[in-house]
Amino acid sequence: MAHFFDGLPTEERSTLHGFSGNRIDRRSENRDDDSVPVALADPGARLYLLRDDLAMMKHESAVNPLFTLAEAEAFGAARDAIVLLGWSDDGPRLAATLPAETPVDEDRIQLADLRSLAVAGEMAADDLGALAQARSLCYWNIRHRYCGVCGEETVMKAGGYRRECPSCGAPHFPRTDPVVIMLAIDTSGSEERCLLGRQERFPEGMYSCLAGFVEPGETIEDAVRRETAEEAGIALGRVSYHSSQPWPFPCSLMIGCHGEALTTDITRDEVELEDARWFPRDEARSILAGTHPGGIQCPPTIAIAHKLIRFWAEGH
Ligand SMILES: [Zn+2]
Repeated sequence: MAHFFDGLPTEERSTLHGFSGNRIDRRSENRDDDSVPVALADPGARLYLLRDDLAMMKHESAVNPLFTLAEAEAFGAARDAIVLLGWSDDGPRLAATLPAETPVDEDRIQLADLRSLAVAGEMAADDLGALAQARSLCYWNIRHRYCGVCGEETVMKAGGYRRECPSCGAPHFPRTDPVVIMLAIDTSGSEERCLLGRQERFPEGMYSCLAGFVEPGETIEDAVRRETAEEAGIALGRVSYHSSQPWPFPCSLMIGCHGEALTTDITRDEVELEDARWFPRDEARSILAGTHPGGIQCPPTIAIAHKLIRFWAEGH
């Protein structure tokens, strides 16, 4: 007998993106205020370390981003700044971010930004996902040391998933900033086309989906329509959700959508975009394949933008 989930995709599309491989069991219902010291007392406890926004890894036969508490403390990690990510099969997993000026012996320790690590594909997907969690959670704690209500210094609670003000009692919770990223598709002509834009800061030849933050009081669909209208002057009708991607730069969740273009004349926001164009399917396919005759490129396969373009270009 047919049931509710028949016809929905069996493959969860979000699992195809970089930073989506986090397998840590967060046990969010058990985050007591002593959860960090209790976890650190476990002999299986290991920490992910960042120096500012760079992941730290040991030079070994394989990329190893896990450190013992003694190793973390030798770099200067303070116990009261360590956050608890959760548990792996091998024990608790914690994280700390060291100041940018922390000296490291680069013969022993490799430093890399998370995006480069994702693109290189050498790190295990679960470690890369855990590092994304570590980066976003540590960043929020570092940037929310003072109470937004009364200005008093706050205290970390619940393994870093809450900060509390000792003066006015206000609780503060980690932020995740929703960003819509969308591929507008023009179906009005004999051949479908997608809308890609280029920001000035992009590498030469790079075009991508449009994107922007969801604003307070806005639905995902309204944000997709608003951002597309603002950046390219294109009106969208129907919007369909495709997938999502944790994006630790520093605390975003990318929400990928396709949008049905109701108009086709592009009016570009000249501050946001250096160029915006329609690309027919065959051209989009050559961009994805890296064979575009004009040298136009799109983001790498780890990026949700790549998957949004591919999903449409391959005829779904
Ligand atoms: Zn306060």
